Amino acid sequence: MPNTLPTGLQPALRRLGTPSSPSATRVMLLGAGELGKEVLIALQRLGVETIAVDRYAGAPGMQVAHRAHVLPMTDAAALRALIEKERPHLVVPEIEAIATEMLLDIEREGLAEVIPTARATRLTMDREGIRRLAAEQLGLPTSRYAFAASLAELRAAIDSGIAYPCLVKPTMSSSGKGQSLVRGPDDVARAWEYAQQGGRVAQGRVIVEGFVEFDYEITLLTVRAVGDGGEVETYFCEPVGHLQVNGDYVESWQPQAMSPAARERSRAIAGAITGNLGGRGLFGVEMFVRGDRVWFSEVSPRPHDTGLVTLASQRLSEFELHARAILGLPVDTSLRAPGASAVIYGGIDAKGIAFEGVADALRVPGADLRLFGKPESFKKRRMGVAVAIGADTDEARVRAKQAAAKVRPVGFPED
Ligand code: AMP
Repeated sequence: MPNTLPTGLQPALRRLGTPSSPSATRVMLLGAGELGKEVLIALQRLGVETIAVDRYAGAPGMQVAHRAHVLPMTDAAALRALIEKERPHLVVPEIEAIATEMLLDIEREGLAEVIPTARATRLTMDREGIRRLAAEQLGLPTSRYAFAASLAELRAAIDSGIAYPCLVKPTMSSSGKGQSLVRGPDDVARAWEYAQQGGRVAQGRVIVEGFVEFDYEITLLTVRAVGDGGEVETYFCEPVGHLQVNGDYVESWQPQAMSPAARERSRAIAGAITGNLGGRGLFGVEMFVRGDRVWFSEVSPRPHDTGLVTLASQRLSEFELHARAILGLPVDTSLRAPGASAVIYGGIDAKGIAFEGVADALRVPGADLRLFGKPESFKKRRMGVAVAIGADTDEARVRAKQAAAKVRPVGFPED
């Protein structure tokens, strides 16, 4: 009999317990948005005791967890006190804006296991940390880049090699926030100012990146999970293609067709970066592709929004894969059918909105919906997503977009 007990797992994960009892396996999600909600549902199905934390009451994940706490997760002392009180076996960051220095202490002291590792959450919350690791330590191909702490430094960096067009982004930001395209010298001051407003912290540092003329961009969902031999192995999902508008994803599909060489390179890049970050869990590795060339862009050490498509297209969604991987359980990354997702925006600024057209959306063949249950809608807030399968990704994309378009967010009561 081969030894199939995963090595390196803490005792609490070698078997799963009963929630709210002394045997419970406890998992705390830091961030309880729509992605966290799906991870929590996957954990619930395995009988895990779940604790959701977010900065506002009624966050989607709080609605499906055993307990919920409202807390600014950048407040290291408050977050530490909560972890000491709840004693989760696993702490699972679902957003970037977290007091990650404190997570390093939590991990070092053995108070809880941080997923995938405290270092990974620290490095990936800061564009500078992850870019220097990828390009300078691991030698992965990226866009040209430089960092600047003032408008003068930014101009100098562009003039001394980055060139135009280029993109300016706050180092502490994600999803296109504070990001602008700079076409020439006249745009630089405006881009600097915009980055100052869009960053998570007012610390002024920006990354400037040469613009990559890609054919398409992908997210390669990559899972580090315990394999049959008891050691952590790397598993790849089929590549997810996606469309971004102003740095925000609006549509994704799986599988994205790639040349054999590009496919192999993307796996090598994803394997290298996730291997260095370590730990267990699912990662979203974002890359740009032109022909056989592949550039690393970013990595999330957690499920990725473009991976919502896997709710329809894979046997196990990225959320179920994450839940299994962090618990030390085996994974299956196989595709079920070609699929697509299309985002449903709020379209209005209002609390407690209602959705019309849901029945019509669900009549679209192969389509399904997730309405996130966010307490407040904004015009550009993601309130739901339509997913669909089809004979190929073209058909799936048409169906997902059709279904999304049929859902109409309205104020309640209607005025
Ligand atoms: P990010 O916030 O870095 O994920 O960027 C959001 C989106 O902007 C990406 O998904 C790309 O569509 C685009 N983008 C970011 N960086 C570059 C780049 N260096 N070249 C071309 N497009 C980029």
